[in-house]
Amino acid sequence: MRVVQSNWYVLGGEVSAFEREFAAYIGTPECVSLANGTDALELALRAVGVSADDRVVCVANAGFYGSTAIHAVGATPLYVDVEERSLNMAPAALAEALQHKPKAIIVTHLYGQLADIEALAELAREAGVAVIEDCAQAHGAALRGRRAGSFGDVGCFSFYPTKNLGALGDGGAVVCRDREIAQSVRMLRQYGWSTKYQVSVPHGRNSRLDEMQAAVLRTKLPRLDASNDQRRNIAARYNAAFVDLPLTLPPSTGEAYAGHLYVVRVDAREAFREHLRSHDVATDVHYPVPDHLQAAYPGAQRVGTLAFTERACRTVVSLPCFPGLPDGDVAQVIHAVRSFFAR
Ligand SMILES: *Cc1c(COP(=O)(O)O)cnc(C)c1O
Repeated sequence: MRVVQSNWYVLGGEVSAFEREFAAYIGTPECVSLANGTDALELALRAVGVSADDRVVCVANAGFYGSTAIHAVGATPLYVDVEERSLNMAPAALAEALQHKPKAIIVTHLYGQLADIEALAELAREAGVAVIEDCAQAHGAALRGRRAGSFGDVGCFSFYPTKNLGALGDGGAVVCRDREIAQSVRMLRQYGWSTKYQVSVPHGRNSRLDEMQAAVLRTKLPRLDASNDQRRNIAARYNAAFVDLPLTLPPSTGEAYAGHLYVVRVDAREAFREHLRSHDVATDVHYPVPDHLQAAYPGAQRVGTLAFTERACRTVVSLPCFPGLPDGDVAQVIHAVRSFFAR
């Protein structure tokens, strides 16, 4: 009602207030809100100077979002493998890829679990390569008091409804320390304008968060930590209940994990999913096809083998884990999973 009665719907007081509040929450001086998380990645790439024919290092098990942004600027993804345990970018693989002179790296904090971001950022910085964090699954994940999005040169967020901080529609943002990067994204999100009708940078577009979504996000932001705690508590219950089963469990349920998805790995995935379906438990696979094998982009470039990536794509399964999931439903999931292995 506040937005409707203000008669101001785009780039107004709610958007500025949300940008201030979200920057303060993440711990960066700058936040620029955008229309969605994929735009955040694309405009971040442009703002750190990536252009057509540059290479950008990324992983291939994170749903193709980073790849979409890299292709949108005309650059080429250079895929590297993940660590077996965390399923996040492996520092050793990045070190090898840096020899191919990429312009930037995109580090995805997959499922809400922080990557080994300090080691990755250190390697990239030594090579003079920009670090973009994809935090679309990791709102609030933290390491020794520092939050996801504050480690690299730019942090990218999505506020799609199912994310840890979700709007009532699409939304996104970048956070950063550097004023020039923020200013560049601010121009790119509105036609490349420096001021009204003055097009000062190329490749501008329309990618604005609207006032209604900003107002919703301002209402939900103060509850983010509590809802992340709920996600972590469910994950901790699952981990304790599954510890003796032949499943690979998420590596941690501490503050470095925002609980976006609770993902186990199981060899007999289809039989496992069918068994859970018969016990009224929904599952999903995040993600079944690795980026380098997607049909639209044959001939993808990679450094080293992507053995852990490809294996993960064959074995990962997501179980129900979201704030408000009733205790009884958690017990039902646990029963369904345990009964699969008791057969
Ligand atoms: C959801 C998501 C995105 C994309 O966000 P949109 O707002 O849907 O464009 C990017 N990266 C990751 C890891 C995501 O989960």
